[in-house]
Amino acid sequence: MKVKLESRLLGANELIAHNNRNMFSSRGILVINLMSSPGSGKTTILECTIQELVKQIKIGVIEGDLYTDQDARRIEQQGVEVVQINTEGTCHLDAQMICHAYQKLDASKPQLLFIENVGNLVCPAEFDLGEDLRVVVISTAEGNDKVTKYPLVFRRADVVLVNKTDLLPYTDFDVEKVKNDIGLINPSASIFLVSGRTGEGMEAWICWLLQQSKNKLLSMNGTSYLQMAEGRK
Ligand code: MG
Ligand code: ZN
Repeated sequence: MKVKLESRLLGANELIAHNNRNMFSSRGILVINLMSSPGSGKTTILECTIQELVKQIKIGVIEGDLYTDQDARRIEQQGVEVVQINTEGTCHLDAQMICHAYQKLDASKPQLLFIENVGNLVCPAEFDLGEDLRVVVISTAEGNDKVTKYPLVFRRADVVLVNKTDLLPYTDFDVEKVKNDIGLINPSASIFLVSGRTGEGMEAWICWLLQQSKNKLLSMNGTSYLQMAEGRK
């Protein structure tokens, strides 16, 4: 019974995610779904990333949190448009929540949309939000066993950010083991080593993101790409 209910829920979610994806694509918006366990540094990475990117591209953020708006307030300080979703205890975001939240951002015409998912490595992996890229953050302050313990989220990731590299000298975190574990279940995932706190390694990640955003615009038809490029001058 439980399995039936869950598959029906996921089926309904898939349909809305599909609509979200079409809507985002028609606007040329690159959408990033940021996932991790609590405390891996998603918000710090976002702050650091936005600080650089905001000079070059229009950014919108949807912040998922169980009860508070602490992260949304931090992101707002970066001068970008933020919409808060409080899930009131639900441990993941779903496509319907994104559809509603985005309506409040549409007028500001973001070209890049970040979604910070609820801190949880389990069910967020199952819910398609209509994103282009799934980015999973794992920090060096966590155990070496995250990839093998939560394979689904890593299998479906396009990018893995290994965060808090500044703490490596003080932990037993084994970067090579983690890279190897990711390679075994998801060889095409891009891996970046970063520190949201010191900014180390952020440049490569940010350049990569900008390229993805350009590719997204190019994937629309040539005319609208030119019109958009013209419009931004
Ligand atoms: Mg956060
Ligand atoms: Zn959940």
